Amino acid sequence: MEFIDSHCHLDRFPDVASTIAQAKSSGCIAVITSGYTHEANEKCLEISSRFPNFAFPCIGIAPSVAMDLSPEQFQSAFDFIKSNASRCVAIGEIGLDFHWPTKKEQIDREYSSFAAQLDFALEKKLPLVIHSRKAEKEAVEFLLSRSAERVVLHFFSGTPEIARKAAEAGFLFTTPPVRSKTRERLLSEIPLNLLLTESDAPYVAKTPSDAAKAAELIAAAKGISIEDAIKYTAENAKAFFGLHL
Ligand SMILES: [Zn+2]
Repeated sequence: MEFIDSHCHLDRFPDVASTIAQAKSSGCIAVITSGYTHEANEKCLEISSRFPNFAFPCIGIAPSVAMDLSPEQFQSAFDFIKSNASRCVAIGEIGLDFHWPTKKEQIDREYSSFAAQLDFALEKKLPLVIHSRKAEKEAVEFLLSRSAERVVLHFFSGTPEIARKAAEAGFLFTTPPVRSKTRERLLSEIPLNLLLTESDAPYVAKTPSDAAKAAELIAAAKGISIEDAIKYTAENAKAFFGLHL
């Protein structure tokens, strides 16, 4: 069993070395550790240099963070991203989140920070890891309007119609280990070559090892064995993030 956790937050684990040792012993061969704040971005890079060829960093300012940053604060976090992007497998998680904002200015800041980071990633030909809570349609349309191609929609929970639109554009989807009717419907809609497994630990699942449980959901939805679901999603992740393991 050699699975990949395509979306995790290793910076949130107090003892990263033991989390990684436990993940490896469960068959996890790589983790994409995603930033969201400036501090998390720094930690993701530091963790990836301590655990090369296993923890791969992706850095970005998440919309729920960007919505409360002043232009100066955003710029300094963004400058850090720009100068460290060459060490990363993707830019993210970035996007739109309409769950938290209560003011229009916050939504405006989400859009402007998303646009800046998205354009930078396109210019550098880096893949994008997208957060789109309660803003799935807007995020997908924004990406399509900018002709983004190398996109993974993390924890996508939009409608099957938006999923189809994104899949037609070749966007990938990470599957969390969360069983629900919505997830089942989405999994039946999205082709296997666009699916990845994620834990989103410690926020959604407990550890990176839980990404393997997402393969069970994919196997059930696609009528294939868990082994095959693991094999195909790991191949998809290697190709998408350009991992040479
Ligand atoms: Zn996340």
